[in-house]
Amino acid sequence: DGSRLPLVITPDGTALVEPEDAELAARVGLATTPTADFYDLVVVGGGPAGLGAAVYGASEGLRTVLVERSATGGQAGQSSRIENYLGFPDGVSGSQLTERARRQAARFGAEILTAREVTGLEVNGAARTVLFSDGSAVSAHSVILATGVSYRQLDAPGLAGLTGCGVFYGSALTEASACQGHNVYIVGGANSAGQAALYLARGAKSVTLLVRGPSLSASMSHYLVQQIEDAPNVFVRTGTVLDAAHGSEHLEQLTLRDVASGHTELVDAHWLFVFIGAAPLTGWLEGTVLRDGRGFIMAGPDLTPDGRPPADWDLDRPPYHLETNVPGVFVAGDARSESAKRVASAVGEGAMAVMLVHRYLEQS
Ligand SMILES: Cc1cc2nc3c(=O)[nH]c(=O)nc-3n(C[C@H](O)[C@H](O)[C@H](O)COP(=O)(O)OP(=O)(O)OC[C@H]3O[C@@H](n4cnc5c(N)ncnc54)[C@H](O)[C@@H]3O)c2cc1C
Repeated sequence: DGSRLPLVITPDGTALVEPEDAELAARVGLATTPTADFYDLVVVGGGPAGLGAAVYGASEGLRTVLVERSATGGQAGQSSRIENYLGFPDGVSGSQLTERARRQAARFGAEILTAREVTGLEVNGAARTVLFSDGSAVSAHSVILATGVSYRQLDAPGLAGLTGCGVFYGSALTEASACQGHNVYIVGGANSAGQAALYLARGAKSVTLLVRGPSLSASMSHYLVQQIEDAPNVFVRTGTVLDAAHGSEHLEQLTLRDVASGHTELVDAHWLFVFIGAAPLTGWLEGTVLRDGRGFIMAGPDLTPDGRPPADWDLDRPPYHLETNVPGVFVAGDARSESAKRVASAVGEGAMAVMLVHRYLEQS
């Protein structure tokens, strides 16, 4: 009757009312439960770093299981065109790149579980155990944390349904060519928003920055503020927030609100980029794995700034380069403190972490 949605009808006619992701994934043939109790390697996260780790781990003979909370691909999977990944001179769509990686990992024998969120990590002697939200668990000799970052979502009516259809989070600069000649809006007043505004202004008709605060200078570097002032087609609306997004198949209009007066205005807009910060969502590692002040996972030399190993470290050697304060638990990609935030570096760190897993297994 339309009140309990979504409704999914499977090919055999079964009706699933408001199914959980895991139930839906299982019904469409995706693996959601591990086939074994114990592995050589558990990879947490199915973005470029996790997929890289799964490809190298499985191809080098490690019994590998990858656990992804939604679908594989990560942030890269949302990118319409990755232009700077080695070997693709004409660019490659992020979903194509990561889908190929998923198939490659599976072909080498990695188990890939989707719609399974990891919510805890335990050390049980030599075993490293990751816990799932339903209370089940899987253990291994080693773990690679490749959970990336999640862009903070803007909470305004209409936005969620238009994400990917004119509304983008984070460094979606690959969309720039599609914005040629259009009016573009950007939410955010920090450097990432400023850089994106200047980049998009090269081709867009106009770029308007929507900033909640009274000026840009408190949140953005001086050089960027100056460049924005000098750019003829970049405009700044301070004291302005986004109230709603409108459109059926693609973004069409935005409702903007003046914070001081409460006055609202409807503007035509086909492109909206949101730059309100990214967070690594690593709260579930609290008490086990050390993180920096912003929640990014610390590893290797960052754990020994004064030459001394971290507290409770009981091995004769210092942590390997991508190893956390828990021996045998490694980190790769955007989730790592001070990481490069690039597809190539995430894949590279996934491969390197596997090399270090081998070294760890040989010595333990
Ligand atoms: C729109 C967009 C365009 C981009 N374009 C480019 C580009 O052109 N070139 C470039 O080099 N870089 C680009 N980037 C950056 C690049 O995509 C990232 O640096 C890269 O994806 C990082 O990979 P990752 O595997 O470390 O993390 P992510 O890609 O963030 O993947 C992490 C994965 O872990 C999963 N996960 C998180 N927590 C859990 C948990 N508890 N349990 C299970 N799974 C979990 C997430 O669901 C996600 O799938 C772009 C980013 C975006 C958003």
